[in-house]
Amino acid sequence: MTDTRPVRSRSRPPSVRRPSATVGDGGPPAHLSDFDVATELLIRATDTVLVGHVHPDADALGSALALGLGLERRGVPVAVSFAEPGEIPESLRLLPGGHLVVPPGEVPEHPDLLVSLDVGSAARLGSLDRLLTTARQSLIIDHHPSNTRFGDHHLIDPSAEATVVLVARLLDRLGIPIDLAIAKNLYAGLATDTGHFRHADSDAHRLAARLIDTGVRPAELLRPITDSHPFDWLTMLSHVLGGAVLHDVAADGRGVVSTRIDLATSAGLRSEELDSVIDILRTVQQAAVAIVLKQTSPDIWQVSLRSHPPVDVAVLATELGGGGHVRAAGFTHHGDPDDAVAAILAVLGR
Ligand code: AMP
Ligand code: MN
Ligand code: MN
Repeated sequence: MTDTRPVRSRSRPPSVRRPSATVGDGGPPAHLSDFDVATELLIRATDTVLVGHVHPDADALGSALALGLGLERRGVPVAVSFAEPGEIPESLRLLPGGHLVVPPGEVPEHPDLLVSLDVGSAARLGSLDRLLTTARQSLIIDHHPSNTRFGDHHLIDPSAEATVVLVARLLDRLGIPIDLAIAKNLYAGLATDTGHFRHADSDAHRLAARLIDTGVRPAELLRPITDSHPFDWLTMLSHVLGGAVLHDVAADGRGVVSTRIDLATSAGLRSEELDSVIDILRTVQQAAVAIVLKQTSPDIWQVSLRSHPPVDVAVLATELGGGGHVRAAGFTHHGDPDDAVAAILAVLGR
């Protein structure tokens, strides 16, 4: 990444920075940075579809809505979408910009520019991967180290804590002011992807301060996203945590803790409740790796992985057909969940 400038502070309003050469269909000249190319594509786009990964989190949806609100202000037609589920997850419904969200079956099929946000591979676009061929051009904006570079143009920075960090820099370059509506989306993605600022460097904290200065109230914004569950959540937790197993092996001489959530146990609960389990397992002192297997259909399990240094679960998940980050990754398993755990332990034991 050639552009590592921090996001500018409010006291120095950003100006539009135009690259010295243009982006044509033949690809950009080599001297343009990835930020230059992305900025130019967004300046020139006549209409855009912005897509986050399936089952979007606050970083995927927040990135798309923040950029979407910004482009809308410039008069650019914008549609925001994600392939699954069919509607915005309940916990993210208060993010501003929901009017931009279009069901996956109703997105314009031939946009001038497709922008993929927080998506590590084409498979994570779900059925919307079709737009990679129908859109005139595609731009991939992401921070997953496992990103497979599946578009025409790429702004990928694994050192960014969240995709919203890259979106904030782009908005500055485009000269689009970060108002409260945009700031709420950026803050939600930043707070959640950094583990509520545990994994945030000083630039990320400066960005957070700037967002709070626009009027973001963190506790109020984050409560529906991470701090709110129905009472039945406790019943599920007691069952799932009671079934946790400590595997006394591997992982740099330290253990692995795992549990599973089958369809009967998750019935009636939201993904928000299920996703909370891994955050509890990852605090187990005896384990360097935490695993939660979530049954999504009789034969399919979504596997969530978390690690403590020095274990890299991005490499592990990629080897098992998924992807993610060094400390948080996942993959999809078909078949017996015990086989998934055995495969993980085998890779860690090497
Ligand atoms: P999760 O455990 O679902 O919160 O996912 C943690 C990280 O792993 C996220 O950054 C995801 O992008 C990535 N990830 C999870 N599941 C998959 C999958 N099936 N394929 C690729 N990446 C995944
Ligand atoms: Mn994400
Ligand atoms: Mn992210």
